[in-house]
Amino acid sequence: SPTSSYVEKPICCRAFAIAENSTVGRFVVATREVRPLETVLEDFPVRDWLLRLMDHIPDIKLDPTHCQYLEEIVQFLSGVFPSERVERAYGILRVNSFGFTTPQGGDGRALYPLVALMSHSCQPNVQHVQSGSDSRVKLVAQRLIKPGEEMTISYINTFQGPLERRRSLKEQWFFDCSCSRCEDISDGGLFSHAVLCQKCFDRVLPRDQQNPATTWICQGCQTQYAANYAKDREIQVAKEWENEAMDRANIKQCEDFIQKVESQSLSEFNHFLVKIKSHLAVLYTVRESAETLANRPILERRVELCQSIIKYLYHMDKGQTKKLGVFLLELNKPKMRLAKLNFDQGLSTRKEYLKSLAEGARTETQAKNMIGRYKLVNSFAIKSEACKYEHQ
Ligand SMILES: [Zn+2]
Ligand SMILES: [Zn+2]
Ligand SMILES: [Zn+2]
Repeated sequence: SPTSSYVEKPICCRAFAIAENSTVGRFVVATREVRPLETVLEDFPVRDWLLRLMDHIPDIKLDPTHCQYLEEIVQFLSGVFPSERVERAYGILRVNSFGFTTPQGGDGRALYPLVALMSHSCQPNVQHVQSGSDSRVKLVAQRLIKPGEEMTISYINTFQGPLERRRSLKEQWFFDCSCSRCEDISDGGLFSHAVLCQKCFDRVLPRDQQNPATTWICQGCQTQYAANYAKDREIQVAKEWENEAMDRANIKQCEDFIQKVESQSLSEFNHFLVKIKSHLAVLYTVRESAETLANRPILERRVELCQSIIKYLYHMDKGQTKKLGVFLLELNKPKMRLAKLNFDQGLSTRKEYLKSLAEGARTETQAKNMIGRYKLVNSFAIKSEACKYEHQ
């Protein structure tokens, strides 16, 4: 279809507008308050709007791999299209499209006219969800967005340290991110990319987090490490975790592994360690029995694990996300069981118990809503949920 499906819709149905300035070109802003979990737009890829998008050809030509691809394509299409047009098409697709997997398992790239105009942030306020069956994309607000505020998505996995994010953005989109998260070396106090010093087990951090070749330095004994120190430590832990001798379905072995890694190799909120903790939290749920649901230390450990994961999620992907919903549900069950145990053992009053039951029910509703809102259903939602008119 040459025209975009939402362009002709009444403005009252749209929560966004396209703005423009001389620095970044076009970008997307909210035209009214957008509530958390409100669907901003669902759209299909179209071939329109293409010609006004950025192509970054000079940057692409500086990259040997891209350069080679491009030359091969230009060669293949020579005599059909002039090389400038092939280069322009390649550049536009390279920097504006999203990769997706078809139901048959094939790899494709799709270009969405609105999504292509959205700027990147490492703390985005909108999340995009793609459907594998019809390559549709759905944009969902994960936080409250004020009128006039720019709507952003993340082009990369936000669960990465600043140096890795910087590398991905530079390699694939040719820019340096300067969002508030990228300015903060502590990553919200979580030090999610930090590893531990081999001598004193204090945190080791990059000296300059803007520079991938920087040395790393121990915050305790000031020992300096080479640029690849953190990566190597993470790879070493990953190897041990995936080793045949490690039974990842065994709760005791997982607990021992986490304890060892946390005291010797990785900082408490290092993203790889959090991944292992998430695995364990789910494992506890899978192995649930009448016995474990009455065991106070196990219930308390489950609460501790989930709270630590939620704290991490809250900073790494701020807002009402699907992952947050999943771990709020994981947390809710042992928490409710502990409340019952406390009441049964006379450690809390009936009033306190009823209060925590009501709280648990509220959390469950909220968490299920967070998970459900990111699902792609068959109906194609062009009409805004906030629209008060009856038109279709
Ligand atoms: Zn309307
Ligand atoms: Zn950033
Ligand atoms: Zn040290």
